Amino acid sequence: MVDTNTLINQLYKRYEIYSERKFTNKFIKHLLIKELIIGLGTSPLFEISEIGKSVLEKEIYCIKIGKGKIKILLWSQMHGDEPTATMSLFDFLNFFSAKDEYDSFRNEILEKLTLYIIPMLNPDGAEVFKRENAINIDLNRDYIKAVSPEAKILKQLQKELKPQFGFNLHDQDSYYSPGNSYKSTAMSFLAPPQDHSNEITPVRKEAIRVISGIISVLQEFIPGHIARYKDDHEPRSFGDNFILNGTSSILIESGYWASDDNKFFIRKLNFVALLSALKIICTGEYKLCEDKTYFDTPVNMESFFDLLIEDVTVIRNDNNYKVDIGIIRKKEFDINNNCYKIKSFIKEIGDLSFSNAHDIFSKNGLVLVEGNLSIDGEANLKLRGNDDIIYFFENGLLIIG
Ligand SMILES: [Zn+2]
Repeated sequence: MVDTNTLINQLYKRYEIYSERKFTNKFIKHLLIKELIIGLGTSPLFEISEIGKSVLEKEIYCIKIGKGKIKILLWSQMHGDEPTATMSLFDFLNFFSAKDEYDSFRNEILEKLTLYIIPMLNPDGAEVFKRENAINIDLNRDYIKAVSPEAKILKQLQKELKPQFGFNLHDQDSYYSPGNSYKSTAMSFLAPPQDHSNEITPVRKEAIRVISGIISVLQEFIPGHIARYKDDHEPRSFGDNFILNGTSSILIESGYWASDDNKFFIRKLNFVALLSALKIICTGEYKLCEDKTYFDTPVNMESFFDLLIEDVTVIRNDNNYKVDIGIIRKKEFDINNNCYKIKSFIKEIGDLSFSNAHDIFSKNGLVLVEGNLSIDGEANLKLRGNDDIIYFFENGLLIIG
């Protein structure tokens, strides 16, 4: 078989052939996922089972593929507003359905590995694009008590299958950079600790080596845009508990890429990250990957604002104060109007000259005419420039000016 970097490079170039075209934006819902899964069921390659239902009784499926000794569990979208990897999982499944010159690679994977794939563990959250499930439980804080049916399903499956590896697929906010660099984090990774000691146990070490292998491949495509997720122990989360219970759990966070609103580029990176991981697991190459690659990868830092408005004069009691305003935007689902809308909040006010931002608004002589400058308040601001032009920001977006 060709070496990992050459193979993944070729598949990166051929990605469009495998990408699932039914995803036209990132706001994907259960109905489409169900349709795609039913479609897969017609192929003898996939074994589909309904493994339970969400609070609002939407089916949660597991797709089994392969017949190898090494079991791998992959799940996405336990946070409803984190859909990137769900799309990648279908690209990835399409890759296995295809027949082309990569058949020997596919066959080797399917001979040596058995994959159990749960796309969209939280369909109720996905329906309204929110993190939590229908009763507002964060599934990734529900491992221990497993109150929610969705968490119960995943916990049970790990106990039954005892997979050697687990891939915990998420999206992270847009404000991270690898360390204090001026680049955004496109992908971040974590082999979580099993307790507060942060010890590198043998199970965790396996996850670290796989991540090192993935990073070595990805850095060719996105140099400087890869980070390590912070490794604070969270006793209620799945990854930490899976490591404790013998599954080398790998957290993959889909981050930010400029002008990639639907995260289709990040989706492609996930596709190659997953294929790289399977390649090095099935050949055993991961055992030779150096922990150093993982530990040398800078940790995520919160350093980006979505919008930075520079040098705004605020007048209080006849005194003038010149400040920068750092704003974060989030997309939320508006149930009443059945649409998505941007919500914003002001994160920081003052000297932000050392901060990064995806958007910078800078004009001469800006003065705050109207609007509340409060931390965590919505960014509805009216500013006047030197030229008397009024700039009106509604929810952190410039709508007039
Ligand atoms: Zn998440």
